[in-house]
Amino acid sequence: MKEQEIRNREAFVHYLRLVREDIANYFPDSEQFRTAPCPACGALEHTAEFAKAGFEYVACRACSTLFVNPRPAAAPLREFYLRSPSSRYWVEGFFLPVAEARREKIFRPRARQIAGQLPALARETIGDIGAGFGLFLEELRILWPHARMIAIEPSAEMAAICRSKAIEVLETTVEDLEGQESRFGLLTAFELLEHLYQPRALVEKAWRLLRPGGRLLATTLNGQGFDIQVLWEQSKSVFPPHHLNFLNPRALAGLCESAGFVVEEVSTPGQLDWDIVEGAIANDSATTDRIWRLLARNGSERCKREFQAWLSRHGLSSHMRILARKP
Ligand SMILES: [Zn+2]
Repeated sequence: MKEQEIRNREAFVHYLRLVREDIANYFPDSEQFRTAPCPACGALEHTAEFAKAGFEYVACRACSTLFVNPRPAAAPLREFYLRSPSSRYWVEGFFLPVAEARREKIFRPRARQIAGQLPALARETIGDIGAGFGLFLEELRILWPHARMIAIEPSAEMAAICRSKAIEVLETTVEDLEGQESRFGLLTAFELLEHLYQPRALVEKAWRLLRPGGRLLATTLNGQGFDIQVLWEQSKSVFPPHHLNFLNPRALAGLCESAGFVVEEVSTPGQLDWDIVEGAIANDSATTDRIWRLLARNGSERCKREFQAWLSRHGLSSHMRILARKP
């Protein structure tokens, strides 16, 4: 898979420009930001790393999670996500044109992997937290026709799109969901934890919503992944306020365990790290160590492919996945 297949570079650059404009309108006064403990382990000690677009990123001294601190309060963040021009463009200008490519490259393989990995859940109630267009549930429904699929989605527009596909919707954030305790056999949260004011609140709520033996499956960004480590503050993934938290395999496992889960798998199955770094060198004149410029210039396709596979295998891709069981 290549970055350009699922993320049009020009549309993404335009989106980031809109985000910068929205920051001035939605978060005009950083005096209003609040200091927060580490979103993964709760520790208070951290080290300053860099500033970007008016936000400070720090690294937790206990678990190395990279996070925005101080950060905007939860309410303005939610306003930003639901109504800002950049969020709207993300849906209409960025995501929609590549939605079918994403279905094929991301959501269908994801559904197949989960159906293969957790066949015992095929007749259960499945909830997708932040379901968006419902692509994942649509794909899983084909494989698990007897499961009950529920989209948990706070955006009215996205919720309407899910309903148009005959997917049941709970139109709220998972944190505000009431009266659904011990209902779900599987909850999924794809690319969500990095956006949240309090990832811990989501993990703890998921634990309560799952029946004993139920699974939480989440993907998020790994701050110890290759492209983020190499590009650091130059990384387009590191962009406030939409990406606030960059956990890592150990920190994510610790967060789930502290909420009562048994972690069954933490992996980094990402495929795009090298392509992202190569793209940043070629298109954005990113500053990197010589070795990566050499590889970008002279490396064979096979060399790059094998390097990416090695990164993924050893917990060093920036795309991270966790599967955790409620005992
Ligand atoms: Zn920490």
